[in-house]
Amino acid sequence: MSAEAQDYIPLEEAEAGAVLAGLGSFTLCASDPPWSALAARLPAPARLIRAEDMDADHLEGLLRGEPDTRCVVGFGGGAALDTAKFVAWRTGKALVQIPTITSVDAAFTDAVGVRRDGKVRYVGKVLAERVVLDVDLVRSAPARLNRAGIGDVLSCHTGLWDWRAAVRAGHGPAWDEHAAALGLQLLRELAAHADAVAAVDTTAVRWLASAYQRIGAMCHRVGHSCFEEGSEHYFAYAYEHLTGAHPLHGELVALGVFVMSRLQGNSPDAVQDLLVRSRIVCHPAELGLSEDDFRRTFAILPDYVRGERLGYSIVNESAPDAATVRALWQAACTLPRRTNADGASDR
Ligand SMILES: [Zn+2]
Repeated sequence: MSAEAQDYIPLEEAEAGAVLAGLGSFTLCASDPPWSALAARLPAPARLIRAEDMDADHLEGLLRGEPDTRCVVGFGGGAALDTAKFVAWRTGKALVQIPTITSVDAAFTDAVGVRRDGKVRYVGKVLAERVVLDVDLVRSAPARLNRAGIGDVLSCHTGLWDWRAAVRAGHGPAWDEHAAALGLQLLRELAAHADAVAAVDTTAVRWLASAYQRIGAMCHRVGHSCFEEGSEHYFAYAYEHLTGAHPLHGELVALGVFVMSRLQGNSPDAVQDLLVRSRIVCHPAELGLSEDDFRRTFAILPDYVRGERLGYSIVNESAPDAATVRALWQAACTLPRRTNADGASDR
């Protein structure tokens, strides 16, 4: 682990119950599952917030009932970690994050996001005092949720290509060798860990947490996320905007990497190999995408990217014609289906 990552949010491995017991009085923002199944075995919070809704008005309303606790704990997936960030940011309390799945990087990012009119808006910044990784707890979650975590690592593949194209065209943040090197390093590590991710073994869980920590630290240092976020995320955002659907983030982003690496002519076979080996769910039908949604997503993408002021990417360089979009769809439909095999579907 680099010195930069260590200086950022400390990541410690510990048993969640022991950590909570040491906190004294705390407000817990929890996802359910897994909260109800675990509550009897864990120290009781002074206040329990069941996190599900990131709507700005709902979050503001939560502040009214906030008791005089020392810290706020996020316990669960993205919604719990994000709700805890919001409450900690607005109350100035210390923040401890205990992710119970490795499907999102929210524990290690400083941006506080809320949803307004169906769109995510970043309203402030807060850093967790520490992130606690309870490896056994994470491994007890459905395998599909943990495997989804590779989406935000694999996105370095297409994100770096887009960033290089942007720099060449005179757009966006200047090239940063350290950030680019981290993206490439994470992709090499993903290739080495793909089978461990498929098995969701202890190595995979530790590696994903460390990858998120380093991504968060680098975003914090350079002030942008160009090394790990580009057209694959824009595809995901445009699809969500178009349909109002919110498939699992990492899975939708993984599909985005698959299609955008093809448009970029950027080693699509290597991407496909990683998707297959890691057993992440990313077949469009299993994410709920229809061919019509897929086609319309590409149709709105250039305007969406412009309207949302997203970065320069392959979307600016190549507008695929109908035949190309159809070929992308057909290629995506050859990805293996996972939801009827070996428990990958449980969530
Ligand atoms: Zn992401």
